Amino acid sequence: MDALKILKAAAADPYEYGATIKAKTGKKVVGNFCTYTPEELIYAAGAVSFRLFGTKEDISLADKHLQSYCCSLVRGGLEDALRGNLSFLAGTVFPHTCDSIQRLSDIWRLNAGFPFHIDIVLPVKLDTLSARTYMVDVLAGCKTDLETALGVQITPERLQHAISIYNDIRRTLGDIYRMRSADPSVISAGDLYHVIKASMIMDRDELLPLLNALYAELKAGAKAVSLNASPRVLLSGGVCNHPDIYDALESSGAQVVWDDLCTGTRYFEGQIEENIDPVEAIADRYISRMVCPAKHLNVTARGEHLVHLAKVQNAAGVIFLFLKFCDPHSFDYPYLKKFLDEAGIPNILLEVEAQLPADAQLRTRFDTFVDMLN
Ligand code: SF4
Ligand code: SF4
Repeated sequence: MDALKILKAAAADPYEYGATIKAKTGKKVVGNFCTYTPEELIYAAGAVSFRLFGTKEDISLADKHLQSYCCSLVRGGLEDALRGNLSFLAGTVFPHTCDSIQRLSDIWRLNAGFPFHIDIVLPVKLDTLSARTYMVDVLAGCKTDLETALGVQITPERLQHAISIYNDIRRTLGDIYRMRSADPSVISAGDLYHVIKASMIMDRDELLPLLNALYAELKAGAKAVSLNASPRVLLSGGVCNHPDIYDALESSGAQVVWDDLCTGTRYFEGQIEENIDPVEAIADRYISRMVCPAKHLNVTARGEHLVHLAKVQNAAGVIFLFLKFCDPHSFDYPYLKKFLDEAGIPNILLEVEAQLPADAQLRTRFDTFVDMLN
């Protein structure tokens, strides 16, 4: 079995995969846009959580509903829904995150026409006692909504099993990341991107054995420490849906060794406690992992975290990769940059559109940054 080949095929054509899994297994497929989606509840309801990345096609239908200064993920997601590209979805779950996603949720509910639509209004500030109580209540409400929408009962046993499967998936993804950080030659950054993307869309019962097989295959060829002296870089930002960005960076001579991306470590960071109330345990993971810029801890947490990550991963530089018009990441950028500058860690900011490939201008900027690191 070539695990990587199967994972890459799913990631290369996610909608084909979503439609096939629905036809093959009869499982319902539930769309979402964010790592604050309680996927364990969806799994426990017998469905497949399916991350939406937005279209690569031109946007026309969505522009009738959204301003052109919304990010391309939001506009591209709506475009896909309006074009009927997501007809395999049984419904969608919208966690309360940035302004654009919140407004998209209303437009989606009114226009996309899926059988069910669940909003999850999670707290924004996560370091208070009341935030945990409130989050547990909201997650319990989401569990009830999913039970109604999908016509199943999420028993404690089903939820414990879901948590165990997700813990195994997250642990294995972390193991693959750590192995690659020690020896980036085990798998290219572009291939690893496909593994993460596949992990966000695949039937998790099919995914876990593939990840385990991939880990074993990679481990057999891994060296304890990399002999490659190319500069190590860390990516920070939201969603990256461009495998060619990873290829462009590697052709510039850099090694992408870690990230702080929603399509990366933010997806698999943190384990869920298996011996306490499962809904409380899911809330605890959200509360204990590092926030994204759409949530709040104190005013220095993300800056300290990023500097810590860069040092632990022995990164020579940090590349901020944002979608254009992404307010939350742009608002956090000046203070994150200040933290990196004060720690003497070189960094650049690049803005991309989901619909555009890594163009010549981006490649030139990568080359210049990598030359400077060298
Ligand atoms: S940046 Fe935050 S709100 Fe946006 S997708 Fe990532 S986790 Fe969700
Ligand atoms: S890229 Fe930014 S603006 Fe777009 S959905 Fe994610 S957090 Fe919101």
